[in-house]
Amino acid sequence: MSAFQTVRGMRDLLNEEAKTFTHVITKARETALLFGFKEAITPHVEPLELLSAKSGEEIRQRMFIFKDLGGRQVALRPEFTASIARLATTNLKTEPKPLKLFSTGTVYRYDEPQRGRYREFWQSNFELIGSNKPEADTEIILLTNKFLQTLHLQGYAFKIGHIGIIRSILNQDGIDEKTQNAILQRMDKKEYEEALKLINSEKCRHTLQCLINIKGKNWQDTLTQINALASDYEKAKEATKNLSEVLTLVTSSTEISLTVEPAFARGLEYYTGLIFEVYIPQLEIALGGGGRYDRLIEAFGGEPTPAVGCAHGIDRIVIALQTQNTAATAIDEKKVVVIPITEAVKTEALKIAQSLRDQGVSTEFELMGRKMGKALEDADKRNLDYAIIIGERELEENTAVIKDLKKREQTTVAIANLIEKIKN
Ligand code: AMP
Repeated sequence: MSAFQTVRGMRDLLNEEAKTFTHVITKARETALLFGFKEAITPHVEPLELLSAKSGEEIRQRMFIFKDLGGRQVALRPEFTASIARLATTNLKTEPKPLKLFSTGTVYRYDEPQRGRYREFWQSNFELIGSNKPEADTEIILLTNKFLQTLHLQGYAFKIGHIGIIRSILNQDGIDEKTQNAILQRMDKKEYEEALKLINSEKCRHTLQCLINIKGKNWQDTLTQINALASDYEKAKEATKNLSEVLTLVTSSTEISLTVEPAFARGLEYYTGLIFEVYIPQLEIALGGGGRYDRLIEAFGGEPTPAVGCAHGIDRIVIALQTQNTAATAIDEKKVVVIPITEAVKTEALKIAQSLRDQGVSTEFELMGRKMGKALEDADKRNLDYAIIIGERELEENTAVIKDLKKREQTTVAIANLIEKIKN
């Protein structure tokens, strides 16, 4: 017996789970189409230099890094944004703006494996490059909302923050960028005490502490509280105004559940403006997140270009759907097996299977040469909906026996009417 197993943190996806993954990815794709995003398929392996350029210490330390046989330092992508930034500064440099690109696929991080946290996981990723307008941030939130809505996910809510508010306060009090990154990293992990310890200025520490404590019932209240706190910080007030503009657009164009948490930070270093994550009440882990990163394209050698984007964690969305029991109902297609009773009818039976497939029915054919009883037993085990049994006598009359495997009923119908029977 083989003792081979998958690499730690990596999984095989099978049966219903694999189907749910494909379903979720299909919905991400449809969302991209609805919002006019074009697909970009980029390599899984990229130069280490590119991937570590701006992703932040947190992710840099968790990359799968290796030397290829040509001695190049490369790594498995831990996210899509670096690859998209590469495209935006090279091949797509002269494309009209905004560039709207989406990708789906696996990404790799050496995280500690647990439920909802893997070393190989799937994301659907959307990047909108070239607009600094609040409507661009709005678009990213609206498309995430639409995506989760079409999956029939219940009770999800957006947590929203603004890196511009935190950075403006730290900047004005003279804290250098490296320390700022260290502070944000700790805030991302909710290690607020540790974060505050890195600040020398008493005033700045106090302001940040107050920011951490702000919790409002509705977002307008929260923004009023932030404005009051930031009365000495011009740039922070501008950032709050930006947040207000986006949230006004979002909430006036759709039904959405959101809270503003001004001390909320995210692991990736490149964010400059609004950031968000999405949660459902049943799970503590974020289903997706994103934000504005206005300096990234420049850091990759492009012209200064504003950008905003998001990534959805497909593995976690699948868990969320399973938790809410919506995964199974998501895909409702009938599955059929065609079973020829004798050798003589095999060709005709295969033709019938082909014609059902041509009409969009998921149709299997009995491939093991089993007798009808065994073939039906197998169809039951694999949870198929209908067996279509082709016999010589029925075929002469242009009919077939169709057995409803769930209701355990069988009838004889004209071959031409099989499709109607299956679809109703
Ligand atoms: P990020 O690229 O860090 O902004 O993450 C975007 C989304 O990817 C998160 O909100 C999660 O849903 C998902 N994600 C991040 N890390 C993991 C992981 N180790 N395993 C599964 N999903 C993850």
